[in-house]
Amino acid sequence: MVYDVITENEVKYITFKRLADIPFIKHGFSTRFGGVSEGVYSSLNLGLKTGDEPDNVKENIKKFASAVGVNHENLVISDQVHGDAIKIVSNEDSGKGYPKQKDYSGIDGLITNIPCIPLMATFADCVPIFFADVTKRVVGIGHAGWKGTKLKIGKKIVQTMADAFGSRADEIIAAIGPSIGKCCYEVDNVVAGQFDKDFKNTSTFIFPKGKSKYKLDLWEANRIVLNEAGVLNKNIIISNLCTGCNLDLFYSHRRENGNTGRMGAIIQLI
Ligand SMILES: [Zn+2]
Repeated sequence: MVYDVITENEVKYITFKRLADIPFIKHGFSTRFGGVSEGVYSSLNLGLKTGDEPDNVKENIKKFASAVGVNHENLVISDQVHGDAIKIVSNEDSGKGYPKQKDYSGIDGLITNIPCIPLMATFADCVPIFFADVTKRVVGIGHAGWKGTKLKIGKKIVQTMADAFGSRADEIIAAIGPSIGKCCYEVDNVVAGQFDKDFKNTSTFIFPKGKSKYKLDLWEANRIVLNEAGVLNKNIIISNLCTGCNLDLFYSHRRENGNTGRMGAIIQLI
């Protein structure tokens, strides 16, 4: 297994062994467990844009940050729009998104080389990608649903890490977290066709399934994208945890018809 399930003060979260082995990084991907939300949001909903009580979500964010071992007052949270814009987080951004107001919008990727600023994005089926450059000490988080995958946000994050901080793609570890697997992700020909232009060969991640229906493997598509960016296969870690198959553990936007909470992915340099 490439991951561990950690329980800290009732908060249950996933860590990747390869990232946990890096002494100057803290990270985690949350589950449903350990929060104060109720009903469909029970219990650790981290989505401030859901219909949940904002105070409960804020309490949940605090609890998750504390379990991962980061300071929630310094959290910087994405502003996800299924795009490919990436923000380089600096000292002055500390706390933006929570507890301070964001002064940016349309951000699906965050990177930083500054210690003690936890980066967070939220998920319920879309693919979380954690990034760590252990040489230059840079971390990042990306949010890749089918649109972000098609836009190759993973590759853009690697390129931004290289441009901003001199990261080398072959020294970056990328970890693909819990998200919807091909087992649970059926798309129509309009979505499937979107990949034809920018991917040389889609037959390894798009599989026909009946008339105008396809199974889409976002994990493999993102592996290809990261590979294309120069990240080595041995440094691309896939959790193989499907949010749709594990409703006891995770929220799934698709399986629960949109009426559900959000998990969070946090990564921070110490
Ligand atoms: Zn599944």
